[in-house]
Amino acid sequence: MYAHPFSYHRAKSLGEASKLLRDLGEESRVLAGGQSLIPLMKMRLARPSALIDINFIPGLSEITNPNEELRFGALVRHTDMEVSEHVAAIPILHDCAAGIADVQVRNQGTIGGSLAEADPGGDWAATLLTLETSVVCAGPQGERFVKLEEFFKDAYTTVLEREELVREVIVKKPSKNAGGAYLAFKRSAPVYATASAAVQLTLDGKDTCKDIRVVLGCVGLTPIRAKEAEAELRGNRVDEKTIQRAAEAAREAAEPQSDMRGSADYKRTLVAALVKRALGIAVRRSRGERVEAGHEYVGR
Ligand SMILES: Cc1cc2nc3c(=O)[nH]c(=O)nc-3n(C[C@H](O)[C@H](O)[C@H](O)COP(=O)(O)OP(=O)(O)OC[C@H]3O[C@@H](n4cnc5c(N)ncnc54)[C@H](O)[C@@H]3O)c2cc1C
Repeated sequence: MYAHPFSYHRAKSLGEASKLLRDLGEESRVLAGGQSLIPLMKMRLARPSALIDINFIPGLSEITNPNEELRFGALVRHTDMEVSEHVAAIPILHDCAAGIADVQVRNQGTIGGSLAEADPGGDWAATLLTLETSVVCAGPQGERFVKLEEFFKDAYTTVLEREELVREVIVKKPSKNAGGAYLAFKRSAPVYATASAAVQLTLDGKDTCKDIRVVLGCVGLTPIRAKEAEAELRGNRVDEKTIQRAAEAAREAAEPQSDMRGSADYKRTLVAALVKRALGIAVRRSRGERVEAGHEYVGR
């Protein structure tokens, strides 16, 4: 199906994009990679009257590495993340980037667009919530920094005001003895995951977990922080028993819906298995081991 007619506007700066959002009214939308918006327009589930293309705004496609942080411009593509040596230093980010859909989607889709879309099936939100992440939002009143845990309000809904855009995503680098892993279970590459688990932990240098975040994706309207699962490990020795207890707690924390990807029960079981496996990889990585991880597919 063809999209409903719309006008096209190319913004040269974030200020101009914000002004266009105001002038072109309620039905205007920002266009980044177009990998969520354009399919919705073609199915006529979205009918924007105007698109404001931000792809030609300079300075939004860079990955920078100042001191304690990694900074990602809103237009950094999933592929840019996948091949970045800065990103490789935080393996959970690479796990996520390398597994999103297929090459075509990864070449076009952006980190800013992914967070702004707030799709419950999106991979970046769950992954970035395990790290200390902030979103720089730019609007007519200037800029504000929003912690990622305060950014998502509901499925497809964020705290972004009507004339605001995502300008940058800032991630604090994890400390020494930290490691993480992101595992998503999918039926095939170009579909969203059935369930996913993101784990980032810090060991004390031996076997005790100093700190941990466990976030579940695709099993709620927004990503779910599994705090009871974290509590099973924080301050405790990480071994088979505590990992099993954390996986069980994650199963309880999930809020899945039954749908064409599987029943709610099946997804809970999947979550427990993904958390268990992600914890095992995170522990090995926190000890300095190089471990491959990523999306897992039915039948593999
Ligand atoms: C076949 C297919 C499979 C996919 N599979 C996955 C998957 O497995 N995992 C996954 O995470 N994603 C998946 N995606 C989605 C993909 O990652 C998108 O790139 C992402 O969700 C949106 O990024 P975008 O740059 O394409 O945004 P767009 O589609 O351009 O925009 C999405 C929304 O965000 C708004 N927006 C965009 N940029 C900004 C900004 N800087 N500030 C404010 N608002 C903004 C737009 O107005 C729009 O409402 C898939 C997409 C396709 C087509």
